[in-house]
Order: sequence, then structure tokens, then C-alpha cells
Amino acid sequence: MLATKEKITYQSLGIILKTKDLREKDKLVAIYTSDFGKIQAKAIGAKKISSKMAGHLEPITESFLAFAKGKNLDTVINATTVNNFSEIKKKLELQAAAYYILELVDEFTEFLNPDEKIYNLLKNTLERMNSFPLSKGGSRGVSNLKILLRFFEIKFLKYLGFQPELDCCAVCQKKIRPQKNYLSGQLGGIICPVCRNNDLKSKPISAEAIKVLKFFNQSSFKLAEKLKIEKKLEKELKKINIYFLEFILEKKIKSKDFLSEVLKI
Ligand SMILES: [Zn+2]
Repeated sequence: MLATKEKITYQSLGIILKTKDLREKDKLVAIYTSDFGKIQAKAIGAKKISSKMAGHLEPITESFLAFAKGKNLDTVINATTVNNFSEIKKKLELQAAAYYILELVDEFTEFLNPDEKIYNLLKNTLERMNSFPLSKGGSRGVSNLKILLRFFEIKFLKYLGFQPELDCCAVCQKKIRPQKNYLSGQLGGIICPVCRNNDLKSKPISAEAIKVLKFFNQSSFKLAEKLKIEKKLEKELKKINIYFLEFILEKKIKSKDFLSEVLKI
């Protein structure tokens, strides 16, 4: 009875999504790991300033982590920062954008359902943000950051299996023509004006916006960032992407308002 059982441990690279204070000096940490998908674990003593692990368990950090299996909750037993994305943490715009994508990953993914594509998309997006020339580029920098967010949303939806149908009407299956069409969350894609009655809550979408979404779907970010998108279209893309994401999520994305305020969209 008294023999100490050997703890079962496991390890993985992971990106810290969020933390929550627990009683005493502990923290609850949500992590998107490369090997196991999303994990929630307890970090004992992580609230203490003297904690060796605390800095490695802050949101917007990629760390190499070791866990011990617990009865209800696993425990983080070791954490070492691999990338702390320090440039993001210096600029409010980038921080707000990073928290927004971390919230999306946290809300849309399930525990213990690993997906390499999502891990890499998250990691690459944070790396791009970290080297964003915001101050030098002026408004072009912010504009690129908005493109990066829209690009992230589209790829993220695709990898989750929620990619909207953009070529044909989701109802009549006719090829979408360059006119005023609608995006329907309920029907999972574009619907033509004739079929609008099938979902009166669907949102109008311009031919240009459909073009950009299709382009993002197929291209790399290197190509996507070369696009020059005018303000009006930028706004439309944000609005329809968020409408679609929130429809699937069945709730509001909490960090979107702060992000809009900071980026002045
Ligand atoms: Zn139709």
C-alpha cells in the first residue's frame, strides 16, 4: 500500500492558450500540444513569483512540456520556453490579434484530438505576427495583420472541416455568379439570390469577397499578403468570417471587440 507508484508521464511541444488562477498558488493551463491536441493541466505553484515554470506557461508562448497523469487533472511537471514571441508581447495590436487566434483555437478544438495542421497554422501565424513590421509599415503593417487574421480564419475553418462551399449555391447547386450572393451558416456556404428564402438570416456577400476567400483557401500566406485589399472589402471580410465562425461556435467570440478597437477596423 505504501509503495510509491511510479507516475505516468508524457511530454510534448505546446502553445499556451490561456491560464486561470486556482486556489492556493496553482494555475490551470490550457495548452494546444503538437502530440495530443488541446490539454488542460494544473501547474502547481505557478502563481508564485519564484516559480521556475511560471514564465514558460504564459499565453502566447510555445514551450516544451512534461506532464504527469492525474486522476482527474494532469499536472505540468516541467516547462521550457521554445519561443516566447517577445515582439508580439511588446505591441498591443499584435497581442490583441494573438489572443484572438488563441481564443479561436481554444473554443473550436476538442481535448485530446491532435491535428498537426492546426498546430502548424497556429505556430506559423504567431511566428509571422512576431516579425510583423508594424511600426515601420504604418497602416500597411496593420492592413497586413488584418489579412493574416482573415487568412488564419479561412485556413482554420478548412482544417476543422467547416470550410464554406464557395463555388456552387448550397441549395440549387448552380455555379455562383458574380452578383450579390449570401453566405449562410446554416447551409454551410454561399447561396444565390433565388435561394435566399432558404435562410433569411444569411449575410450578403460581394463577388470580390468570395474571390478573396477562395484565394485564401488555395494559396500560401506569402501570396495572400501581396493582396491589396481596400478598406470596405477588409471590413466585409471581417464581418462575414466572424458571422460564420460564431454561427458554428454558437456563441460570441469574446476577444473580437477588443481586437476591433485596437486595430480600428
Ligand atoms: Zn441557388
